[in-house]
Amino acid sequence: VSRALGAALAVAAVLGAAGAGAIDAGAAAGPAGPARGLRDVAARPADPDTVRLERVWPAMGTLFRAAASATDSAAALAALRAARATVARLDSLLSSYRPDSEVSELGRGAGSGAWVDLSPETVRLLVSSLEWARRTDGAFDPTVGPLVEAWGFRGGPPRIPNPALLDSVRALVDWRAVLVDRDGRSARLGRAGMEIDLGGIGKGYALDRAAETMRAAGASAGMLDLGGNVRVFGRGPGPGGTWPIGIRDPRCPERVLGEVDLDSGSVATSGDYERFFERGGERFSHILDPRTGRPVRGVLQVTVAAPDGLTADVLSTALFVLGPEAGRRLLVREPGVEGAAALWMSGVRREGGAAGRRRGSAGPPSGVLLAGERTERFDLGTRATSAGCYEGDTAKPTEGP
Ligand code: ADP
Ligand code: MG
Repeated sequence: VSRALGAALAVAAVLGAAGAGAIDAGAAAGPAGPARGLRDVAARPADPDTVRLERVWPAMGTLFRAAASATDSAAALAALRAARATVARLDSLLSSYRPDSEVSELGRGAGSGAWVDLSPETVRLLVSSLEWARRTDGAFDPTVGPLVEAWGFRGGPPRIPNPALLDSVRALVDWRAVLVDRDGRSARLGRAGMEIDLGGIGKGYALDRAAETMRAAGASAGMLDLGGNVRVFGRGPGPGGTWPIGIRDPRCPERVLGEVDLDSGSVATSGDYERFFERGGERFSHILDPRTGRPVRGVLQVTVAAPDGLTADVLSTALFVLGPEAGRRLLVREPGVEGAAALWMSGVRREGGAAGRRRGSAGPPSGVLLAGERTERFDLGTRATSAGCYEGDTAKPTEGP
């Protein structure tokens, strides 16, 4: 079984369980672990001859949790430290929150005509992100920065931009106006006011690079989790050496809906609950549709399994924007993503729960799963969700501790 196909089948298993009614809040719920989107896996190493160590650090505006298995604890620790250093270095190059990052410098030079020198790693990711913009017909667009800013998703106060502002900002979102020099050492943004935002792809890239450094430092197996993006390599603690990774319930994040058994590669989740604000009962969330300039509506969560971290991350964002129909065409058409599988959960536009009950609210989410040639639709139903988390639940909401 190829890695990619394994990833696809693994997600299919989640659906299979849902179809059979086996996904049940009671049965599936377990401690989600301190890191988002990651179910606690057995603390013992998969291979009894190895030592497994785990560390958690803050990074890239979230938590970076890494586990490494190696022949001795010194090697495992060295691998963890190498991974941490890689993520920290990439964060300092790529962050749009840091004024001293290369990505921020690129924005300051926008429209001036001057080329901005960049390190090879930044160029590599920039080129990849432009390639994905082309492949997704701009649904994923790394120049989305000014829109993210206009909606207040970059630390500012949340706001709904007025139509005139939205129009002027939308004119700045255009991946075709990003020029990368032929020597591959510099880039420039064609219009003043343009900004690069790699928030939808950078964590996956960082995980791939960090996994490489862990291997190079002597780790035989490892798992890395960066804010809902999980990357694994080597033999895992699950059945057959796989890695069990929980998919969270988008409205009850402390619960897991089901599990993916990943043999290698990555699982990434984009959710409308990561960063959002609400006005008039409607949720405005941080994944923006570059075509409208507005947050995508009606999608709660997209989970993607793919052979590497970058692909899973970029697809989770792009497929969130594209939806299942266009998403299917992309997955079928594009080389290199044949092995990817995607799970959408959509349908609930407004907050549920007793306190949040509002006009026009829908019931529990419906799901669409794409894995290889298969497309399957299912209704999660109230059984599949934690009691009280969705409109239409008859059960009482569970009270927090
Ligand atoms: P998270 O950052 O929560 O893991 P994602 O990987 O889905 O979630 O990335 C979302 C981020 O991507 C947003 O916060 C924003 O910075 C950026 N973004 C939003 N919309 C788009 C888009 N259409 N194309 C590219 N990047 C986007
Ligand atoms: Mg993403």
